[in-house]
Amino acid sequence: MKEDILKEIEKYAEENNVPIMQKKGINFLCKFIEKNEIKIILEIGTAIGYSSIKMALVNKDINIVSIERDQDKYIEALKNIKKMKLEKRITLILGDALNINLDGKFDMLFIDAAKSQYTKFFKKYEKNLKEDGVIVSDNMSFHGLTDEVDKIENKNLRQLVTKINKYKEFLINNKKYTTKFYKIGDGIAITYRKDLDNE
Ligand code: SAH
Ligand code: MG
Repeated sequence: MKEDILKEIEKYAEENNVPIMQKKGINFLCKFIEKNEIKIILEIGTAIGYSSIKMALVNKDINIVSIERDQDKYIEALKNIKKMKLEKRITLILGDALNINLDGKFDMLFIDAAKSQYTKFFKKYEKNLKEDGVIVSDNMSFHGLTDEVDKIENKNLRQLVTKINKYKEFLINNKKYTTKFYKIGDGIAITYRKDLDNE
């Protein structure tokens, strides 16, 4: 039953070009969540609720707050979460993540929204990360384009991919954090706070 609903969501995403996480990527992320006993997650970019639902299904102790700026997607996500009976553990917020202020502290921040704004999301929400929290960023390969910027002819696309590369540099050069990049799904970065005492 639950599997059927998930299949329907995947089908809907494909038919409507909703860029939900790739299967290998979400499976990797779910294992990471399980292994690291992550309990409370802030997601930026709900779309239709697919990744929220998959993450919430890892185990019953997991709670998620997820932000989506597109009203139609937000409504679709609400429907899907209700169908899965996960509305007690997944809280959706409608609005632009750059205009919202949250006080809570999270074990994990999952950035999967407008690719040109990742650095802004990171800087805005790092204060909501627990001391030992992690920041996960999706689409770090952007369909393999991040390694081939010079070959991209479309100007807007080239600018977007350049912004993703700038975010990657921001992560690599950030003195407070260490980042590991995984070539899984569309490319996933996992960023940890450095233990400054041990430096
Ligand atoms: N995490 C989802 C996919 C998200 S797709 C999954 O894997 O199932 C990216 C979504 O981010 C889109 O629905 C888009 O509307 C939303 N988005 C982009 N910029 C945003 C912003 N500034 N604030 C909130 N949502 C944003
Ligand atoms: Mg993504």
